[in-house]
Amino acid sequence: MPTSLSRDTAPQERFDLAAIHRDEMLHAWDQRHVWHAFTQMQEYDPLLIEQGEGCWLIDTEGRRYLDGSASMWCNVHGHRHPRLDAALTKQLAQVAHTTNLGLSNPTTVEFARRLVEVAPPGLEKVFFSGDGSSAIEAALKMAFQFWRQAASPQPDRTRFIAIGEAYHGDTLGAIGVGGVDRFTALFAPLTFDAIRLPSPGGPCPRTGRQPPSLDESLAALDRLLTEHAGTVAAVIMEPLVQMAAGIYVHPPGFLRDVRDLTAKHDVLLILDEVATGFGRTGTMFACEQENVSPDFLCLAKGLTAGYLPMAATLATARVWDAFLGTHAEQRAFFHGHTYGGNPLAAAVGIASLDIFRDERVLESLPPKIACLQRFVGRLASHEHVGAVRQCGLVTGIELVADKAAGRPFPWQEKRGTQACLAARKYGAILRQLGDVVVIMPPLSITLDELDQLCSATERGIQDATACTADHSSTPCHFS
Ligand SMILES: *Cc1c(COP(=O)(O)O)cnc(C)c1O
Repeated sequence: MPTSLSRDTAPQERFDLAAIHRDEMLHAWDQRHVWHAFTQMQEYDPLLIEQGEGCWLIDTEGRRYLDGSASMWCNVHGHRHPRLDAALTKQLAQVAHTTNLGLSNPTTVEFARRLVEVAPPGLEKVFFSGDGSSAIEAALKMAFQFWRQAASPQPDRTRFIAIGEAYHGDTLGAIGVGGVDRFTALFAPLTFDAIRLPSPGGPCPRTGRQPPSLDESLAALDRLLTEHAGTVAAVIMEPLVQMAAGIYVHPPGFLRDVRDLTAKHDVLLILDEVATGFGRTGTMFACEQENVSPDFLCLAKGLTAGYLPMAATLATARVWDAFLGTHAEQRAFFHGHTYGGNPLAAAVGIASLDIFRDERVLESLPPKIACLQRFVGRLASHEHVGAVRQCGLVTGIELVADKAAGRPFPWQEKRGTQACLAARKYGAILRQLGDVVVIMPPLSITLDELDQLCSATERGIQDATACTADHSSTPCHFS
């Protein structure tokens, strides 16, 4: 970096000027060089977060915000947790990275063992990769290969059943089973064709479709599994709540019944707990709430408490056994990622599990979940809130133009985005899913901070919905 931008080398009297200059330069470079995810760069307005402290994010100008999206759904115990920081430093004194292709590292081994100990029963094998999408890709390929190599091979089992509006990541396999049209439709020619099961549950104004009831959805799954008998490799789903779909909560019992149906038809079940894992829904894993053990469990986001990219695909001994054989039999899983099992990430992952245990994190959640529930319960009567949906420490607040008619705002008005941008003025960073404003803080948030976060959210929503585009008398920056 040029010395003119370095605070340390600037003479004291020019310090502030240099800081301002540095900030402007960074903003300009951010806009010019950094291609941000899910962002229209032509409209991108930089906000540079330079530090974190517990549940707070601090920008380059020293402004503080509550991290209302847990830094994209992955932060668990807050930023700069002393034990996580220490674990990282300690591992750094040993080695930062070695490969897990045919080699291992004590920290990675220990982490695998610790994961198996906390995972639902039966999941004993851990395949490490780098991010959530990779964990999904590994599960899909493993399920496919499993049927070719099973004790009685069924090579026609090549297809996947996925839930409507599912989100499993952005790589090609993951969007093949994904069902959020605005992310996947364009790339359809590049992906495979999943069999789609409509998602059950209450009304969802954003899609304008009336979803099937629990019974209808289960009957449909039974039908699909019968109709496609012998050709389905696995069913894949997010348990309890479909996050990116718009915080879409399944009716109780759905997951349990899907598990029973997959067992009945001898089809594998892949659970995507990339977002729900590590306490988000109130239990360590969402599937525990319905006593379900899948054949594959995909983990990422909270796996390292939001510190480093790492993912894991957990599998059963039954799956693993189908991949065993001599070199000449060519049954190995020929798939891997360079940084899979990275020891730094594993060290933080172990420390995170220690914190869950020692700080009784799961036991601390019920009052926070109840606090969020009271807030959204109150917000539900707001004239532009069409629906609120909550599962544990995550909630989606759906903004609508006309509540009685269930009429959404024209999507071009970006009301959800406007609400989140407005909330920044009140000290919160939030992230929307279309017109659904999401509150998903680190699990370590205090009740007091949660109150502040809710109040900033409410004010943001108020600002963004106060004017309507067709009220020409009301000044409105959306029209
Ligand atoms: C975020 C997410 C993914 C993808 O994870 P990445 O780390 O972004 O690749 C997959 N599934 C679910 C449910 C997610 O929320």
